[in-house]
Amino acid sequence: MIGAEHQGDVFVDGVWRPVPAKVAVHDPATGAVVGHAADAGPGDADRAVAAAARQLPVWAEVPYPARAAVLADLVGRLRERRAELIETVVAEVGCPVTVTAEVQVDVAIEVVEHYASLVRTRTGREEVANSILHEVPAGVVALITPWNYPLYQLAAKVAPALAAGCTIVAKPAELTPLSAYLFAEAVSETTLPPGVFNLVPGSGRVVGAALAAHPDVDVVSFTGSTVVGTQVMAAAAGSVKRVCLELGGKSASVVLPEADIEEAVAATVASATLNSGQTCSAWTRLVVPKHHYAAVLEQAEAGMRAVRVGDPRDPGTENGPLVSADQQQRVAGFVARAEASGARILGRRGDLPRYGHYSPPLVVAGAAPDWEIAQEEVFGPVLVVLPYRTEAEALEIAAGTRYGLHGAVWGEPERATDLARRMRAGQIDVNGAAGNLHAPFGGFKQSGIGRELGLEGLREFVEVVAVQQ
Ligand code: NAD
Repeated sequence: MIGAEHQGDVFVDGVWRPVPAKVAVHDPATGAVVGHAADAGPGDADRAVAAAARQLPVWAEVPYPARAAVLADLVGRLRERRAELIETVVAEVGCPVTVTAEVQVDVAIEVVEHYASLVRTRTGREEVANSILHEVPAGVVALITPWNYPLYQLAAKVAPALAAGCTIVAKPAELTPLSAYLFAEAVSETTLPPGVFNLVPGSGRVVGAALAAHPDVDVVSFTGSTVVGTQVMAAAAGSVKRVCLELGGKSASVVLPEADIEEAVAATVASATLNSGQTCSAWTRLVVPKHHYAAVLEQAEAGMRAVRVGDPRDPGTENGPLVSADQQQRVAGFVARAEASGARILGRRGDLPRYGHYSPPLVVAGAAPDWEIAQEEVFGPVLVVLPYRTEAEALEIAAGTRYGLHGAVWGEPERATDLARRMRAGQIDVNGAAGNLHAPFGGFKQSGIGRELGLEGLREFVEVVAVQQ
């Protein structure tokens, strides 16, 4: 057993409380039970919302610089737990310690630091003609997060919500609640007033749905699948609450003819296999000039064969197991249906660790852009390579899914940037440039509504009152 002292409890109104039902958390690599979480009920959600609502007027009146100080305090408490947080996300997600877990924990801490510095000198007051615009917290917020980057996703919501002056009820994913317990313990040690941050682990259908529909919740910030996102939106509609949805993706990496093809393919293979492919922003479609198609397939296959699949605790491992047997079967189903439709599946299909929900890193060749494998989010280490003849066709393929979260363009910088602007996705990397915490992250179309990170991320949690004088 690893992780926080209070596993199995809920954290409401500054107090850890036991609940009658608990669920075991399993390590995807070994099957071992690595901890427990509360299986909270609607009553726990109600009590947490009530605590958050009571504290709202208190926390809302704390000025930005003082909120920044609490966030800075939280940064220190999280840093003290860095090793334990890394061990915990490896154990609950099965993600490789070096390429995913360490990076995730460091970025989660960085995002809290980022919001502390963003609001340290903020006044929240702006004059427009004879109006004064006052930024005020949006209210009580429900934060519902998925399992793939559990610590980062929680931090990326909690930090701007606290910075904005909101009070919080957080519900982590059922499969990965342990890092959220550690995060909550760190929060409980800060000077944050009790009731401002509440943690209610439980099932999505019970606790998640109750929070989304709750009349006293003002904002639901949800990260997860598009299908559940639509349910959250429908549930939130009854009380006209604001929704911020960070949903699925099927991002394209578009290679223009003049690009450094080898660099583009290597980076795209790395993106498609990051966190064993369980990354919402992964580039899972590689769109290449037709005359480079055969060479790209060869290089992509070699890249996939070279991915080091194994024990997530081994520092050399690049891909661990998928998070669950269900996820493994889901990925295998996508691959089998693509093959049955006539696609060629390239890569090393055997030779995987015998225990754990491992999925081989694969390339799909010969699929058309409208096939399921090229349209749906697989959430496993599977890259579809699609040829194009003209730049117009490349754009049509890149923008031709119901998603629009992320992407890449490789080529002459001006031309690549022009294409990036037209791809109808929220973030695009040109020639491998990395993203940063100041740039908003979020989706077009069914990849979501709203943005995380940067000032746009803060704005999801504030309302503006215009006072005319
Ligand atoms: P999921 O939609 O199954 O679950 C996400 C969260 O919603 C969990 O906490 C779950 O308990 C809860 N939930 C389930 N049913 C609910 C309901 N009816 N009402 C309210 N809450 C409910 O997603 P997942 O399988 O945990 O995560 C994978 C998905 O998340 C992928 O589609 C991935 O693309 C997406 N994702 C998106 C981003 C992004 O920023 N756009 C980031 C990471 C993951």
